Amino acid sequence: MTAVTPELLSRFDVPGPRYTSFPTADRFVEAFGADDYILALQQRKAQSPFAAARALPLSLYVHVPFCESLCYYCACNKIITKHHEKAAEYLDYLAREVALHTGHCGQGQPVSQLHLGGGTPTFFSDAELGRLMDILRQHFRLEAGGEYSIEVDPRTVSNERLAVLKELGFNRLSFGVQDFDPEVQKAVHRVQPAEQVFALVDEARRLGFASINVDLIYGLPRQTPESFARTLAQVNELRPDRIALYAYAHLPERFKPQRRIIPAELPMGGDKIHMLSRAIEAFMGAGYCYVGMDHFALPDDALAVAKRQGRLHRNFQGYSTQPDCDLIALGVSAIGKVGATYSQNVKTLEEYYDAIDGGQLPVVRGLALSRDDLVRRAVIMAIMCQGAVLYEPMEQAWLLNFRKYFAPEMQALKEMEGNGLVELGEEGFQVTALGWFFVRGVAMQFDRYLQADKNRARFSRII
Ligand code: SF4
Repeated sequence: MTAVTPELLSRFDVPGPRYTSFPTADRFVEAFGADDYILALQQRKAQSPFAAARALPLSLYVHVPFCESLCYYCACNKIITKHHEKAAEYLDYLAREVALHTGHCGQGQPVSQLHLGGGTPTFFSDAELGRLMDILRQHFRLEAGGEYSIEVDPRTVSNERLAVLKELGFNRLSFGVQDFDPEVQKAVHRVQPAEQVFALVDEARRLGFASINVDLIYGLPRQTPESFARTLAQVNELRPDRIALYAYAHLPERFKPQRRIIPAELPMGGDKIHMLSRAIEAFMGAGYCYVGMDHFALPDDALAVAKRQGRLHRNFQGYSTQPDCDLIALGVSAIGKVGATYSQNVKTLEEYYDAIDGGQLPVVRGLALSRDDLVRRAVIMAIMCQGAVLYEPMEQAWLLNFRKYFAPEMQALKEMEGNGLVELGEEGFQVTALGWFFVRGVAMQFDRYLQADKNRARFSRII
């Protein structure tokens, strides 16, 4: 850990994307619209014309934009409101949006992965969540053994609500904890006592949820290495199956809520590094496996098993065990991936309702990937998931000479090798243990958009 020196940081801690997609969403263009997306759906349908049952399983994402109160660190697309009647109206439109999608890709398509994110999905009442699941089941076939997950704000659920989620078919929960320290919670306007989270996680285990994830953030106001160490000890005591540890990116010019954070209360870069290294030591010391970038999992959790078996994937929700499936995204601002395309829905409720009232899919922008995009995506995902790229399989899959095609990139990797971040071999290259801290930086070498773009300041720093 001490090998992460200030010199390395000043050289490689540059702003960069998290690569939940490639090309990244900021490269999407408005020239790609609903018609292009419909074409992608129709092409998918044409690949399995006789039986939906034989189609490759889909992934579904549903964005619920409402939250009851504002967390000051928030960078999500959300609407703060206490008017719960808005949820019922939104559900009506979601139902109509689902019908528009399945009108083009076909009814009864198999689904192996569902994720409800937000905002706060548990802003929906139990009855509304039940109705949403009914709508999805009317149009899709949710496969047994699939991964069905929901983000849970501990302040919005009770033991009874957890039982309802289980009953509805969810088998994975993700709790937004961020930090257990009361002072930090006050500074970010998200007060949720540790006892409440412990009681909910206990109950979720008793109910038999297959995997429980906890989200943490380091770099928040009033966090110190000492206070964060206490949170880490509590998280180890809680022992969730998975831990996602994110760095807080303070970008108040982009995300308005962050303007309420007092800059003087933010930990300095050195303290952030200290918190990250202590977190890694604490979780590894407690038996967690380092899955990659910001994810840890217990050795018998599906994510850790997939990592060991080289089956890890990456999608808009982060790391996943599910193969690279098409993703249908529902709701405002949601991003989908069908075939060699990405598409994103409009960001405001008004535009969303207008599009659906007009009988249109609410796609506002997207991208049809070129062959070069697809090659680079394969390389970037191999770096982010396996931390390694083998030349021969890439050459066979894409009919190219890897080291010639990526000559400038390989040159840049040599510099990273000199700093101990990657090892270059005859058959491929791999990210070192130290290099995992800068894995985004390794992937960035293959991002031709970024290399051509001088304006990188809009991304968060790596650490
Ligand atoms: S962090 Fe999550 S719960 Fe908080 S305001 Fe943002 S979307 Fe809502």
